[in-house]
Amino acid sequence: VVELSGVNKWYGQHHALRDVSLGLAAGEKMVLCGPSGSGKSTLIRCINGLEAFQQGDLVVCGTRLDGTQESLGAVRRKAGMVFQNFNLFPHLTVLENLTLGAVYARFEPEHRAVERAHGLLARVQLTSQTFKFPGQLSGGQRQRVAIARALMLEPEVMLFDEPTSALDPEMVHEVLDVMEELARGGQSMIVVTHEMGFARTVADLVVFMDQGEIVEAAPPQSFFENPTTARAKAFIGQIS
Ligand code: ATP
Ligand code: MG
Repeated sequence: VVELSGVNKWYGQHHALRDVSLGLAAGEKMVLCGPSGSGKSTLIRCINGLEAFQQGDLVVCGTRLDGTQESLGAVRRKAGMVFQNFNLFPHLTVLENLTLGAVYARFEPEHRAVERAHGLLARVQLTSQTFKFPGQLSGGQRQRVAIARALMLEPEVMLFDEPTSALDPEMVHEVLDVMEELARGGQSMIVVTHEMGFARTVADLVVFMDQGEIVEAAPPQSFFENPTTARAKAFIGQIS
């Protein structure tokens, strides 16, 4: 569902992605890790068309990102994105946060969108919060709303950028549980996270980036037990 080959991106003089190539097949789960500034967010934002890149080839859910509005629209309709800081609409209720995109971007009849939204809120265990505003929720609840909102797209791939790093520690697991449940259901996903427990149990592949490059990519067991590069070893030593 996601295929990158030789992707390069610069911010002015700064070479943020260096010849990045990777593939995610349907149903696969990838965890992306690496030190601060290594390009993880840049990579995930390129995949969702939130950032442009200068060189290489990027195909998401069958659409080649070629800079056109059509390709951007197609990719954003098929790739769900969850950010560190939730990015909910503060003036809309939880239910409206879910239905807005479906009604306006997918032209779905409102009653159908509402019905699906109730189903997804039940799935993330937030039925009791349906008519509240984001400001009335805890961080963990907000992030689960953000996940449910992304799922309204029925995405072929879910992209998560540090979904738990803005949360109080006691709320981390409720969000990871929802993500794990999604993974068990066969959802393709790319997750930027420092939660190595999640990487171990959920990921098919752990990708380690440093300075804009993919330095190592391996299944969790071999990544954690036998990292082949000094940079990955040092990183694993710091976080675990
Ligand atoms: P973190 O773990 O801190 O979130 P990251 O791996 O997500 O880091 P990126 O945010 O992708 O890293 O940033 C990669 C590099 O690109 C960094 O050196 C950063 O300063 C630079 N960068 C990111 N966004 C921009 C921007 N909009 N303009 C210029 N430089 C940027
Ligand atoms: Mg980042």
